[in-house]
Amino acid sequence: MARMFAPLTAVPDHPALERVVLARWDAERTFERLRELNAGGPRFSFVDGPITANNAMGVHHAWGRTLKDVFQRFQALRGHELRYQNGFDCQGLWVEVEVEKSLGLNSKREIEEYGLAEFAARCRERVAKYAEVITEQSRRLGMWMDWDNDYYTFADTNIEYIWRFLKEVHRRGWLFLGHRSTQWCPRCGTSLSQHEQAGEGNYEELDHPSLHVRFPLKERKGEALVVWTTTPWTLPANVAAAVKPDAEYGLSNGGWRLAESGGEYERIARGDELVGLEYSGPFDELTPQQGIAHRLIPWDDVVLDEGTGIVHIAPGAGTDDFELSRVHDLPVLVPIDESGRFYPEYDPFAGLSTDEAEEPVIAALRERGLLVEAGRVTHRYPICWRCRTPLVFRVVDDWFIGVDGIRGALLDENAKVEWTPPQYRKRMDDWLRNMGDWNISRKRYFGLPLPFYQCACGNLNVVGSRAELERRAVRGLEQLQELHRPWIDEVPISCESCGVEVQRIPDVGDAWLDAGIVPLSTLGWENPTWVEHGYATGAAEGLTGADLPDDTYWQQWFPADWISEMREQIRLWFYSQFFMSMTLVGRSPYRRVLTYEKLLDETGREMHRSWGNSIDADEAFDRMGADVMRWLFCEVPPAQNLKFGYGPAREVQRRLLTLWNSVSFLVTYGNIEDFRPVYADLTGGPPEGQPLDAWLVSRTHQLVADTTAAYERYWTPAVTAAFDAFVEDLSNWYIRRSRRRFYGDDEAAFRTLWYALVQSLRVVAPLMPFLADELWRNLVAGACERAPDSVHLAGWPEVHEPDTTLLTEIAEVRELVELGRQVRAEEGVKLRQPLRRASIHGSEAARSHLDEIREELRVKEVELLDAAPLRFRYKPNLRVLGPRLGRDLSAVRAALEVGEFEELGEGRIRAAGHELGPDELIVERAKERGWAHSDRFSVGLDLDLDPELEREGRVLDLIHALNALRKDRGLELTDRIAVTVPASQSDLLPEHADWIKQETLAVRIEADGGSLEIEKV
Ligand SMILES: [Zn+2]
Ligand SMILES: [Zn+2]
Repeated sequence: MARMFAPLTAVPDHPALERVVLARWDAERTFERLRELNAGGPRFSFVDGPITANNAMGVHHAWGRTLKDVFQRFQALRGHELRYQNGFDCQGLWVEVEVEKSLGLNSKREIEEYGLAEFAARCRERVAKYAEVITEQSRRLGMWMDWDNDYYTFADTNIEYIWRFLKEVHRRGWLFLGHRSTQWCPRCGTSLSQHEQAGEGNYEELDHPSLHVRFPLKERKGEALVVWTTTPWTLPANVAAAVKPDAEYGLSNGGWRLAESGGEYERIARGDELVGLEYSGPFDELTPQQGIAHRLIPWDDVVLDEGTGIVHIAPGAGTDDFELSRVHDLPVLVPIDESGRFYPEYDPFAGLSTDEAEEPVIAALRERGLLVEAGRVTHRYPICWRCRTPLVFRVVDDWFIGVDGIRGALLDENAKVEWTPPQYRKRMDDWLRNMGDWNISRKRYFGLPLPFYQCACGNLNVVGSRAELERRAVRGLEQLQELHRPWIDEVPISCESCGVEVQRIPDVGDAWLDAGIVPLSTLGWENPTWVEHGYATGAAEGLTGADLPDDTYWQQWFPADWISEMREQIRLWFYSQFFMSMTLVGRSPYRRVLTYEKLLDETGREMHRSWGNSIDADEAFDRMGADVMRWLFCEVPPAQNLKFGYGPAREVQRRLLTLWNSVSFLVTYGNIEDFRPVYADLTGGPPEGQPLDAWLVSRTHQLVADTTAAYERYWTPAVTAAFDAFVEDLSNWYIRRSRRRFYGDDEAAFRTLWYALVQSLRVVAPLMPFLADELWRNLVAGACERAPDSVHLAGWPEVHEPDTTLLTEIAEVRELVELGRQVRAEEGVKLRQPLRRASIHGSEAARSHLDEIREELRVKEVELLDAAPLRFRYKPNLRVLGPRLGRDLSAVRAALEVGEFEELGEGRIRAAGHELGPDELIVERAKERGWAHSDRFSVGLDLDLDPELEREGRVLDLIHALNALRKDRGLELTDRIAVTVPASQSDLLPEHADWIKQETLAVRIEADGGSLEIEKV
């Protein structure tokens, strides 16, 4: 007869199994059929945060993508219709810097020489290439998305929606050109914004010079200020020095500096007494320094715990310095150009980078006798989030969106968003409260072209759509292949105020505008008619088939029911889309957010390619398999960092093996006994059997209820924990307790076990889609007519109220059994060795499960004790008893030591003729041999072995050895054997031969002088 179930291998080969399942999903259109099944169902709106299509996926990306997939799969199993649109982030510094690297370009000048049109083409090619790579990897991870209809943020459609947002921002008066000091990357040649740079990873410990420099005072001959700086390159731009007004300064060796207590000074003065003094700057001969009067200014924020307490101020090269220039009306000298090199007028430093200028500046100071002290300092210094170059400060013109007009509304709206874990709402609040104006302009090439046309008449023209651009264009439309540089720069417009021709500003936009508009642009907000492939515009043409839906669709799918990204997106994507949606439609684009922490290596260090501890996603797919990766991602509470690696993966594989072995058990004996599962059991439940069957059904109900609740609150660690505990109960209680019933055709046992295993596969399917589907295929699809061919098409099991009384009882019994095993482990008594008696105290449930407890503990009888078996040991409290008993103390102490005392109740005892109270005694719980205790229960085992018990123990050892031999020889479970035992064991046979035969399927047993042997008969 054909076997009902396919036999399982000894251990699952996850990667191989997953490739088989992937091929099957493709061949059988499983995902497409799921979408067809759910079409028209209640909507579950998920909006994907775009992944940067710029490099292959890292394992940390796989974490986020797993969570997205898990909850989409869960919602689909619950019958929801979903959109499944994946997004790619496509423009901005990310892709530019990588393309520069691959082309060997190292400055903006080289990009311009290379040609902007060519550069844009290379950027698009890179995006296309890595979008494909990421798609392939995501499929491998098991992610189900509508891969032919991705959104690409560099689509003209997306850009137009951002233009529309910017026009609205301008209409509200929030848009302005700021003249500000900003963090500047000299390699990228652009300023960077607060929200991009705020991450902890954007700092490094760097080594810089630490200089004490004399600034000679003009009106006081022989006296000078001693200032401190760690950026020598800023000295040529010095215009002032600052002291803390209420600090004390002292003069010694002709130099003023912060007075230290106990220091000897010729004079002492408060900072505010020195304010206003003029000094000679260190580089007064430089052309830009002509006519500048250097003076001492007050500043409350001067740091006093390092340096000299006097800081040099260069408003063109530092943020605080720039702010001070506004307060004190100081001139602003900007010494370096956008590539971080000195302007020509700063000769002799002209053309040097800030690093290269270090030595010449120090040499010049030394030559002029201005250098007091030159050392080094290691400090935390900002680096470019994109290319890791140390940043400098420049004063430049950047475009900003003022945030004060909307800050309050954002905070109010955030109160309505449900954050998981909940503490992250406060993080968002903190960001919203403290965020500065949004710097949206970057002086770069392949990015969102800011639609700003600044006219000489003073009017700022902001174009809000391509149609408006076409209407107002003076020329150049014929060559406008997409809304990117260089083409867009060839389309001047006429000023709406004075009619004169105006050029676009050259700046491009912050990449977070690109991703932030997505909840509006991809869903068709205010779009009057549905446009097929209407999203595949500009650079995205040919890469996707995505439609541009209409406003009705937007109303159905906005806001997202749920989104999920890592925690740093609070200041990035969660923020930018929140800001943009609130501006345009007045409400949050998402209802719920799941956010999670960082991925580290298995020892808890950050992963870095250069440290050799990073793991490529492809390597992880091949070596541990996607299901195991997904399990690791889901197991960690999202507020904790995740330790990822092959060690933790092996631990997961070990636990999954318990499930695998349980299925294998059912498959093996099901085939032997020709078990036929009944699909309707999954809805109606298996037939009533023994009490243990009822327990497993109830235990399964509990698993379904617990995991359903966990998925509903977006908490995967509760799913993995519930599943682990369930499989443990199923394997180490139900199967072990019922094993014998499967050696015959006990229909109820088979159907109950099948029911429990299959329901558990269904609830774990979102998390572990491959293994669950493969096992479903074997246990259900291949065995039941009319069953869905995939677990992912089977819907969600009905949630039943579990019988908690029954579950509590068995949980209690299992706890007792654990305590009994603990005693055996402590006393070195094998589980196989039968014992005479177990004594139990504290458990009511034990009364109705005496047989199970007896079998599990392998004892002949179980006795239930009314009184606690605890015994106490008493020691005299010497401080109290010493004075009272005097020389009698030693007799009392001796009696207590050997346990000669009488308990009188309420903690009182009598020993050596004295009655002692609780305050005179130190009480310890005695650790008795043969007992183990939990909070509620006590279990004791009688450990004495009589000859009968000893012999039974040897029989069980023999049975164990014989079954091990059967396995070694590769015998089928049904094969019969002939057994030869050594003569030394022959004394067991007269009494126990039948028992041995029964347990080993032996037909004959003989004893001779040789070793233990079996032979198939
Ligand atoms: Zn950079
Ligand atoms: Zn004008």
